[in-house]
Amino acid sequence: MAANADIGFSTRQVHAGSATAHASPRATPIYLTAGFTFDSLDASAEHFGTGTGFGYTRTGNPTIQAVEERLACLEGGDQAVLVSSGQAAVTVALLALAGAGDHVVVSEHIYEGTRGLLLDNLARLGIETTFVPTGDLAAWRDAITPRTRALFAETLSNARNDVLDIAAVSAIGRERGIPLVVDSTFTTPYLLRPLEHGAAVVVHSASKFLAGQGAVLGGVIVDDGRFDAAASGHLFPHLVQTDRLGGASFAERHGARARGAYIRESAAPRFGPSPSPLNAFLIGQGIETLSLRVERQSQNALAVARWLEQRPEVERVDHVGLESHPDFDLGRRYLTRGAGSVFTVTLRGGLEAARHVVQSVELITHMTHLGDVRSLVLHPQSTSHSARTVEERRRAGVSPGTIRLSIGIEDIDDLLADLEQALVGVPVVERETVVL
Ligand SMILES: *Cc1c(COP(=O)(O)O)cnc(C)c1O
Repeated sequence: MAANADIGFSTRQVHAGSATAHASPRATPIYLTAGFTFDSLDASAEHFGTGTGFGYTRTGNPTIQAVEERLACLEGGDQAVLVSSGQAAVTVALLALAGAGDHVVVSEHIYEGTRGLLLDNLARLGIETTFVPTGDLAAWRDAITPRTRALFAETLSNARNDVLDIAAVSAIGRERGIPLVVDSTFTTPYLLRPLEHGAAVVVHSASKFLAGQGAVLGGVIVDDGRFDAAASGHLFPHLVQTDRLGGASFAERHGARARGAYIRESAAPRFGPSPSPLNAFLIGQGIETLSLRVERQSQNALAVARWLEQRPEVERVDHVGLESHPDFDLGRRYLTRGAGSVFTVTLRGGLEAARHVVQSVELITHMTHLGDVRSLVLHPQSTSHSARTVEERRRAGVSPGTIRLSIGIEDIDDLLADLEQALVGVPVVERETVVL
């Protein structure tokens, strides 16, 4: 830039100074920039033509890319696309597969945001959902129609800690060329890698365990890079047909990576839930300690679950690491490193017992969120599961006395002491049934 005297103040305030020097930072730099300069007209044309290099942060950013590469590697996937929230990850993944007139088969035990998305929002776009019990393989198979474009479930569900038999459900889809999309938020790639068991696409709310400290929202979609145009092309014409100008299809350009490429180049940037590079940086930082946190959280959670199971105030603990859990064997098969930190406890004393506990904990925080380094508690019936009928809640394992815990990394003795003091005064039978 020319000498200060020759350049106006307003020009200098936006052009003076530059951080493009070649330095070699060890931590991932935060490229908090909307766009990137082009070296030449050919470079800009090349970028718009083939997507090489960086042009605009919605289609690519070095900080975001670093986190995507890390997550693809941890999941054993081919490529990952980071988006602004877990909800965005689910939305983009499903809209990359299904369109108006299509159909998806979904486990009935899923996150309420996803359930609402399917029932209210995607339904309005003409995408129909059939809900099935997670473990009923015949129901999954029977629900598939010629319009089915995806099977969707969570690896480990809230509230009942149901375990998805990924190998079995993905095999049912594969027979018909239909991908299984798995929300692995509760299990993280440290505990379970669904792509290794046959899932085609994994999504996460990165706001939870991946970021880990409850500061940012984020989501990720990881594709396995195994799109088979011969087996599935007829279901996904947008991947195999020539583009709008008659150019090569995604499958022609990207082969088995066609679905991932479509998510990256078309679905995510067009629907537009781009993550901030700053949030991407914080998610990337969080992931660096994922194994340490989740290992400790899993140990703590199992210890808390075992302790609660022995308490007279407690009717039931739904933690898949307990021998009493119906999916204990399935859990042993899929969750060899631990079962995560989110589970529910149902108190004999019903709603008033639950109210007492969530209002009496001192160390444990009463809030909606999970996967945090801090332990959290929530009352599902009146919050996360309030949009369900009594019967739907019963099927999900939520009764008035149910509370959900997300256990953090605190010292186990302090967590047990907090729960012990919170249980003081909690009735051991439901008040209505007390005979006076
Ligand atoms: C939180 C959550 C989501 C939604 O993620 P956000 O980051 O809050 O948008 C989706 N699925 C599961 C299982 C979750 O726990």
